[in-house]
Amino acid sequence: MSVFRSSRFARLEPYVPGEQPRERKYIKLNTNESPYPPSPAVLEAVRVAAGALNLYCDPTALKLREAAAAAYGVEPECVLPVNGSDEILNFAVMAFCDGRIPMACPEISYGFYPVLANLHGIRLRQVPLRADLTIDYRDYLSQNCTVFIANPNAPTGSVLTLSEIREIAASNPRNVVVVDEAYVDFGAESAIRLTKEYSNLLVTRTFSKSHSLAGGRLGFGIADPALIDDLTAIKDSTNPYNVNAMTQAAGIAAFKDNGYYADNCRRVAETRDRTAKALKALGFTVTDSKANFLFVRHPNLPGGALYERLREKGILVRHFSKPAIEDFNRITVGADGQMEALIGAVREILTQNGRE
Ligand code: PMP
Repeated sequence: MSVFRSSRFARLEPYVPGEQPRERKYIKLNTNESPYPPSPAVLEAVRVAAGALNLYCDPTALKLREAAAAAYGVEPECVLPVNGSDEILNFAVMAFCDGRIPMACPEISYGFYPVLANLHGIRLRQVPLRADLTIDYRDYLSQNCTVFIANPNAPTGSVLTLSEIREIAASNPRNVVVVDEAYVDFGAESAIRLTKEYSNLLVTRTFSKSHSLAGGRLGFGIADPALIDDLTAIKDSTNPYNVNAMTQAAGIAAFKDNGYYADNCRRVAETRDRTAKALKALGFTVTDSKANFLFVRHPNLPGGALYERLREKGILVRHFSKPAIEDFNRITVGADGQMEALIGAVREILTQNGRE
């Protein structure tokens, strides 16, 4: 029985994150975390920052904004650090959507977009993908909506080109276009430089995947200063100290250690491409993913069954029950050894399946 007192929020449909199991040690390929630890410099920065936890952190996160601005090639006033990129997505819905300005996003995409639309009572246009599960950018031209597109998209990993993003931004001059670049570091081209040309473009980033900081909760919004001011007003009206002192320090140190993280991303991309090849050889259809996950389907094995059989073997992947993609599983790209274990388990499951 719900005890909500607020009629505004009585019908929430909260996001259900991928499992973080406690009862057993799994090979965890279900939430797109990095298999690699934070760099030693990040751990040291967190240790030092922890020594001053009696003080509030800088609510403007100035040093972190400066580090981010230098890394992204923009000015510090073009950056808003946030508590994971989910936070900036929420701010963007609050700042740029209302009863007259609906949201548009791909029908198959990050599950948090519909959750946010529902939370804020915003009408949502969900745009079907092509049959091959890619996005047709022409569906997003001149929309009169706030457009949300993940690039690479999740859970398919497909990418739009920069010129396609440019056309979307140019054709919606009176609406904000949000490009969610959670997975961009694994092989897509960033639209950050387009934010200098298009004052309606907001690019969001996260350190949860490419920078081994999922538990630290750090993300960024990058846009024209006017958009950043609007988003900062929402931030300061909800949680002024949104990025804690340890995470600010971790973020600054991570930007300085860019080589370490770039190497990790390269390793993940190589492992991804090798794993895709191995899965195709076992009969899987694998979407062309430029992210740190693969989206796969086997003709002889329902998606739910593969998920369960892998789980029994101690490997967690992500299965979505949405009818259009229920035959698929999304498999995070882990370290080489983890992916070898996955391929071995899949091979056993397929052999056993053939015998039944
Ligand atoms: N965008 C996309 C497309 C994602 O898959 C995720 C991860 N669940 C996020 C944003 C949010 O990541 P975080 O809040 O950890 O930065």
